[in-house]
Amino acid sequence: MKRIAILGSSGSIGEQTIDVASKMREEVHIEALAVRSNIKALKAQIKKFKPSAVSVENDTDAKELKKWCISNKIKINVYSGQNGLEKLATMSKVNMVLAAVVGSVGLKSIIAAIKAKKDIALANKESLVTAGDYLMKLAKKNGVSMLPVDSEHSAIFQCCCGEKKNDTRKIILTASGGPFYKYNDDFSKISVEQALAHPTWKMGEKITIDSATLMNKGLEAIEASILFGVPIDKVEIVIHPQSIVHSMVEYIDGSVIAQLSTPDMRLPIQYALIYPKRLKSNIKFLNLAEIGKLEFYKPDFNKFPCLQLAYLAAKKGGDLPAVMNASNEIAVKSFLHKEIKFTDVAKIVEKTMKAHKVSKKNILPEDFFKSDSWAREYANNLIEKEFKL
Ligand code: MG
Repeated sequence: MKRIAILGSSGSIGEQTIDVASKMREEVHIEALAVRSNIKALKAQIKKFKPSAVSVENDTDAKELKKWCISNKIKINVYSGQNGLEKLATMSKVNMVLAAVVGSVGLKSIIAAIKAKKDIALANKESLVTAGDYLMKLAKKNGVSMLPVDSEHSAIFQCCCGEKKNDTRKIILTASGGPFYKYNDDFSKISVEQALAHPTWKMGEKITIDSATLMNKGLEAIEASILFGVPIDKVEIVIHPQSIVHSMVEYIDGSVIAQLSTPDMRLPIQYALIYPKRLKSNIKFLNLAEIGKLEFYKPDFNKFPCLQLAYLAAKKGGDLPAVMNASNEIAVKSFLHKEIKFTDVAKIVEKTMKAHKVSKKNILPEDFFKSDSWAREYANNLIEKEFKL
């Protein structure tokens, strides 16, 4: 029985995890739930699943929620803030943490969960990009499984089953291409609304913008390199607009193994939750004849400079991926607030990366947090001084 804490339960991945878990009550029990500020969603989840603990971001919300629990005769521990996330991640009843908080803010709770020997279902790629080697070493030391929830990484994981790592020639990471892979107009004129209209996946706002700039694919390339222990230049990105092949692994003998399915996040979520089991799911079975064709294209690194930045960050290593990720988080937020242009996102990330002195010795979380905060401040200043519309 998997007894899970869902960190980020009101987001897109969190809600879909709840949907999956509610259909597998024999296999998965929801023990704890954390949201940032969507108290309404959390209350509905509490009523339905009766977790033993919950957490919210701020104290005022926590107080209000405690009162609501008392008046509804619900016995539950209510926590708040970073401490609250860590409390849930380390609860003795919990044996798996679904990390779906957006951004590197999720990193501390993942570290706490690994130290408490909880398996991780990882939907927070930013943490892995920020402190990947450290997290993987820590997981190994504590005998903890890091199970990918990202659809591409779940695909790679499935393609690797039973294979020897040394036999891998390369990982082929597929990308839908987002809304602009065929776009030939002026990229600087792309609006927030256009960027939020993703053709195949329905996701949260931050990841949808990352998918439009292709930074999401850059982050995923780094994520794949870390999770599967493959150098970044052996991770190849290919545009596949249908989002049916979720990724592939090529072996030294020329065999390519792929994982295909209808694009539905509930599948990788279910796979991570009950691995190594497979159970019937509610997703639509694939009808290849109906789909007709599967296309593959080379991505344009000039049109999408975020891809170049991600490969550069991964190659240089150290704390540069952390700096790239943090400045991207700031730039995306600013774009969503309509303060900067679409094309400024990559420019801000690039300038922040250039201004940073790469430290290779950083192996401790404190160092990553320091570089992360430095990059946020630098990017915010850049926006104020040079980019704000
Ligand atoms: Mg993905």
